[in-house]
Amino acid sequence: MDEIKEMLRATNLKATPQRLAILEEIKKAGHIDLETIYKNISEHFPSMSLATVYKNIHTLKRYGLIKELAISGAKSKYEIAFQKPHHHLICKVCGDVIDIELDTSFLEKQLKEIRDFEISSCDIYCYGICSKCKNKSQG
Ligand SMILES: [Zn+2]
Ligand SMILES: [Zn+2]
Repeated sequence: MDEIKEMLRATNLKATPQRLAILEEIKKAGHIDLETIYKNISEHFPSMSLATVYKNIHTLKRYGLIKELAISGAKSKYEIAFQKPHHHLICKVCGDVIDIELDTSFLEKQLKEIRDFEISSCDIYCYGICSKCKNKSQG
């Protein structure tokens, strides 16, 4: 909780109970979509609407506290922005999103050589089947 308060303070955003709860949910889940955040926190904030959650998420994103993962064929998920740089593996069977640290220096090198392109940021999404689902189907 303190870490999240620190994050909010650094942006000068007001640490409203709703924002704290949303950030707490995202941190706890790792990757989570809007509807699930809403479902999980509406217990504590019964009068809060989905639109309010959406507005808060939009603000948190704008201030760089959270990152939106645009996952093709599924709802966007959100994660805490202040993490070690990482990429994502997405299981097409169970929908799990798995963090993976990859060394992308080969990409930077190749793109520089082939296109004289300077990468400033790079997000890799790999789609496939996670080991849990693979083992189940081989059961
Ligand atoms: Zn899976
Ligand atoms: Zn992640």
